[in-house]
Amino acid sequence: MATTMRAAVYGEFSGPISIQEVPKPYAPVGGLLLRVKACGVCRSDYHGWKGLDSDIVQHGLPFTPGHELSGVVVKLGQGTTKFQVGDRVAVPFILSCGNCRQCARSRPTICEGQAQPGFTFPGGFAEFVAIPRADRNCSLIPPKVSFVQAAALGCRLTTAFRAVMQQGRLKAGETLAVFGCGGLGLSAVMVALAAAENVRVLAVDPSEEACKKALELGAWHAFDAKEGDEYVRAKVAEVTAGFGADVTVDAAGFAKSCENAVWCTRRGGRMVQVGLPHGEEPRLPMARVAGLEIEIIGSHGLAATDMPLLLSMVAAGKLQPEKLVEREVNLEDGAKALEDMEKGSALGMTMITNFKGKVVVDPVDGCWLGRCSPGQGQLRSAPFAAESFRALIDKVYKSASTVRGGVSSPQLDRAERGFSFRSQGPLDMRMDPTDATLRPAAWYVANLPEEELEKHIIELGEEVHLLSIQGVHAMTCCENELKP
Ligand SMILES: [Zn+2]
Ligand SMILES: [Zn+2]
Ligand SMILES: [Zn+2]
Repeated sequence: MATTMRAAVYGEFSGPISIQEVPKPYAPVGGLLLRVKACGVCRSDYHGWKGLDSDIVQHGLPFTPGHELSGVVVKLGQGTTKFQVGDRVAVPFILSCGNCRQCARSRPTICEGQAQPGFTFPGGFAEFVAIPRADRNCSLIPPKVSFVQAAALGCRLTTAFRAVMQQGRLKAGETLAVFGCGGLGLSAVMVALAAAENVRVLAVDPSEEACKKALELGAWHAFDAKEGDEYVRAKVAEVTAGFGADVTVDAAGFAKSCENAVWCTRRGGRMVQVGLPHGEEPRLPMARVAGLEIEIIGSHGLAATDMPLLLSMVAAGKLQPEKLVEREVNLEDGAKALEDMEKGSALGMTMITNFKGKVVVDPVDGCWLGRCSPGQGQLRSAPFAAESFRALIDKVYKSASTVRGGVSSPQLDRAERGFSFRSQGPLDMRMDPTDATLRPAAWYVANLPEEELEKHIIELGEEVHLLSIQGVHAMTCCENELKP
């Protein structure tokens, strides 16, 4: 296995982010080495790149960002018991320690010794990432959930879930008002409608596009914050019969969004601060907070133990994180998207799903978007050079595996499998290496004339693919991967 990998790296804060060959990390003790399948590009990565994250400053440069990731286990660290090689894994952005006072109080989101991919150690803008503390923090991705969906839960949907449902305690029939409808605020709108019955969601944002998106996601009303504070507060009062919202969330972190959230909270209601404050300090009506017994509650991330709940909501179709994904890109364009946040953030997520540069498809690992697994329903063929086909067969099967005469297309449905060869019967790899009449696949490729080899390339599944060795086709499920 290669000892280096491709990764997006910056050597100075605000400096260029380039794609480099860097040493591949090891599986840490108690952790996992993951092949990254999807990694979101997030505003927090941008802040880190600008030098505004103390963890990255403390870690030192060069650094690889990326904290919204999912991947496949390629190696287990010593002592890791919950996972196996080949498992599809979702990684939360807070990896709690399990040893501190807060962890002992079951408050892992405020763990005193948090590890965070892309902040306290190199993150997911890379082919591989080493994830520590896996058993207590990582979750298996259900078969129905894609790598992109799992990564798109990212920091925003998970954070929004805790803010709205756990810290905000939004209940059936209540009204939620969300101040600031960027990625986090829109996630709050989505989560509220998915997780609580008969709730009404009010969205407030100065951007027309954000208001429109909130309405598309099911918000009851969206109010333009450009109209001013008085307008916003009057509107929220108007649609709540003068009472105010049961729960308000500041998802933006501006003085105005925070102040308006408190002003729009009803008597005895809950206001959740989840957007990280920046800029001017808010001026809060604390007499109102005291007199009306308004609770102001902080919220940070999500406990790793709650990830399976969110993943099951995605599997059930109740939560659709893919709706937040605007585009899927390669590592180069992901790095560029991060630099481009200088000019402001797009509403939708940019998701890195291609980490491999020029390689068209990897028959050893299969589809890196994870869409072939577990079914093969969308198989398509992609051009694949004969030379690399031979090299791969050689690499994968030279020593151990043998075939009786058939060479099938590479089977890509299982991450842990490589090429699969057969003569007849079900496609499998249970070949007997002690049988002298069997030969390595590499032997066939090396010794048979191409016309004859072609005859040995036989069907895969129900479809018959007769493939010319001059332009041998590797099977892949994703159109994205067909691009050179
Ligand atoms: Zn802890
Ligand atoms: Zn994030
Ligand atoms: Zn695919």
